[in-house]
Amino acid sequence: MAVLWLEDVDADDVGVVGGKGASLGELIGAGLPVPPGFVVTAGTYREFIEGAGIDETLFDAVDVDPEDSTALREAEATARELITETPFPDPVREEILESYRSMGTEDDEAFVAVRSSATAEDLPDSSFAGQQETFLNVREADLLRRVKECWASLFTQRAIYYRQQRGFPHEDVDIAVVVQRMVDAEKSGVMFTSHPSTGDPQMTIEAAWGLGEAVVSGTVSPDNYVYDRSRATVEDVTVADKKVEMVRDPESGETVQLDLDEERRTERVLSDAEIDDLVTLGERVEEHYGTPQDVEWAVFEGEIYMLQSRPITTIREDADGASGESETTDGDAGSGHEAAAAIGDGDGEAGEDGGDDVLVSGLGASPGAVSGAVRIVDKLDHLDQVEEGDVLVTEMTMPDMVPAMKRAAGIVTDEGGMTSHAAIISRELGVPAVVGTGNGTRVLKDGGSVTIDGDKGTVRAGADEGAEPAEEFEPVEAARPETPVKPMTATEVKVNVSIPEAAERAAATGADGVGLLRIEHMVLSLGKTPERYIADHGARAYQDELIDGIRAVAEEFYPRPVRVRTIDAPTDEFRELEGGEGEPVEPNPMLGWRGTRRSLDKPEPFRQELAAFGRLIEMGYDNIEVMFPLVNDATDIEGVKRHLQEAGIDPEDHTWGVMIETPASALLIDELADAGIDFASFGTNDLTQYTLAVDRNNGHVADRFDELHPAVLRLIGDTIDRCRERGVDTSICGQAGSKPEMVEFLVEKGVSSISANIDAVRDVQHEVKRVEQRLLLDSVR
Ligand code: PEP
Ligand code: MG
Repeated sequence: MAVLWLEDVDADDVGVVGGKGASLGELIGAGLPVPPGFVVTAGTYREFIEGAGIDETLFDAVDVDPEDSTALREAEATARELITETPFPDPVREEILESYRSMGTEDDEAFVAVRSSATAEDLPDSSFAGQQETFLNVREADLLRRVKECWASLFTQRAIYYRQQRGFPHEDVDIAVVVQRMVDAEKSGVMFTSHPSTGDPQMTIEAAWGLGEAVVSGTVSPDNYVYDRSRATVEDVTVADKKVEMVRDPESGETVQLDLDEERRTERVLSDAEIDDLVTLGERVEEHYGTPQDVEWAVFEGEIYMLQSRPITTIREDADGASGESETTDGDAGSGHEAAAAIGDGDGEAGEDGGDDVLVSGLGASPGAVSGAVRIVDKLDHLDQVEEGDVLVTEMTMPDMVPAMKRAAGIVTDEGGMTSHAAIISRELGVPAVVGTGNGTRVLKDGGSVTIDGDKGTVRAGADEGAEPAEEFEPVEAARPETPVKPMTATEVKVNVSIPEAAERAAATGADGVGLLRIEHMVLSLGKTPERYIADHGARAYQDELIDGIRAVAEEFYPRPVRVRTIDAPTDEFRELEGGEGEPVEPNPMLGWRGTRRSLDKPEPFRQELAAFGRLIEMGYDNIEVMFPLVNDATDIEGVKRHLQEAGIDPEDHTWGVMIETPASALLIDELADAGIDFASFGTNDLTQYTLAVDRNNGHVADRFDELHPAVLRLIGDTIDRCRERGVDTSICGQAGSKPEMVEFLVEKGVSSISANIDAVRDVQHEVKRVEQRLLLDSVR
């Protein structure tokens, strides 16, 4: 059988019908009203290429050097031609057409959406499989061609590039195609089944006339209805002035925008009875999945249809209570909000808190609000497209994007959490950023004007008069304390730095030193693995690169201490670089070959790092301290000590220490102290993920990533106690050092220093001061 009906599949059928097909089938199976449709299975695609005997030619054609853009372009063209020019076997063609016809009537052909639904769930990002292809308002004449175009979308340049680069075999990726009836909505919208930031049982429904595209694209301000589920009442109704509606032109099938007459503009879209029906539906979806959902719905001839449902991951209120942030993550393989397209040709996401024009939302990773033109870039694009004042939108930033990130007024990414490359670098550059939007690159339109809010984590349509004018680089003055005299605190307050360009801003905060200078970004921006760089340019040149970057920071802070950390990049990041082909493919790089364990196993580039530090110290930068990441026990410490000695840095008379990032290192702090460390610095990003078994980069569990969890605090508190007894300094350099609750806990515990992000230093200084004064007062009262 070439096709399966959606009602006959469920979440377990990803391998047969792809992620999108499986999630729609799951909803139908739960008894939820989803527009009917079928899936041309992955097996059908496979039989098509094998039956026609084009499989080998196809896979050979796309086995090209991913860095050769001409070869990539040719590979895409060849694959496309092979697929589209090869005829369907008759029985398959008939089965697809028969299934399609059964959705319409004799004289009324059905309008369907045709979408690719890839099966390669284990790709790092399934969007690389090319499953984003979507065709709307398709009728019989175009159906078969569109199905083949979905198949061909497995071989876009981008998809080929990523699979080649990651060594992911092309023959392991299959693709299914969903064919689903479009709903000619009279009214439609979105709903959050619970409050998106607090998780309270409060449902928010947004509704407008016509197709949902108007709501998800932000063209129309929808009505807003708030329903209190615990009291079972409509709590609040805000009727908006809805100037237009989107409808389907019956002739062309295109989506068109119509002006509404006076009366309908301000007419309430949903009756109380309809709200009740939607609430019932919302509760059923939430119950089915066991988590709050973000649902798209449409009403057609009095029936409500569900077009998509995705979990809402709730992020706790920010430590300072400044803003609740909510992140919406994809419930299935990259389905995003694509089902929105079933009600229009739009594709978008409605924001939380009744935001009327929020296009996408994610984590507010770097504060500030700016407006600018959207510039969507990916690895294959030329980054020079990003101009001064643009909003850079990308899946995930890479080290080679830093120059473009500097030019950008704001940054939006699909992936990543608060400790991702994009979040760290944009904070240091002082560029507002929203990360982990899930679908920013798909929803935002290149060239469109948007306003991003890096505090709330929202991207809105249009320019905002109140938003800050775009600055190339936030001036040093902005980071300098407003009060000329920084608060004097007994606990030192330091700053984290990852890119040398941020040194001046970092030093201007009045921080007592650098608690963590990461070198990953300096190394990755060379574009080659350290091994390859050394092979091509020599060890001395590699040392010189490190020296240039580190010196910029050491100089700026002299004589304040700067803790330089040896490299801690996971294999998947090294693999992106030239020379990274040989990196092992690890099932979980976070638990893999990174940090000190890798350095000890592979002493060659490690020696050059330490040699660079040694040369800097010799040059007179005696404010440099050496820090080792991801250690577990005394064996690791003995290893790094030997290397320090070899590099001419005497561990007896030079300050060095380790990060406490694993429960092992916290529990074994006594043996680390015996082995001679001068300081222990809590890397709470890793300590939290390893203590709670919560991947710090995984949006699906982001709500469980809690650095203030009692288990994490117990490990930190006990370690500080032990270190105070042993005369070992303690510090924090993870993201949590910028949170007031953590600061309060650490100061009470007697931590020696706290290292915060540039933008948080000033607040941390004041918080430390406040806690210290309270402790003093408590002791004399
Ligand atoms: C940490 O783990 O908290 C840390 C500061 O290190 P990194 O950001 O490199 O993981
Ligand atoms: Mg770490």
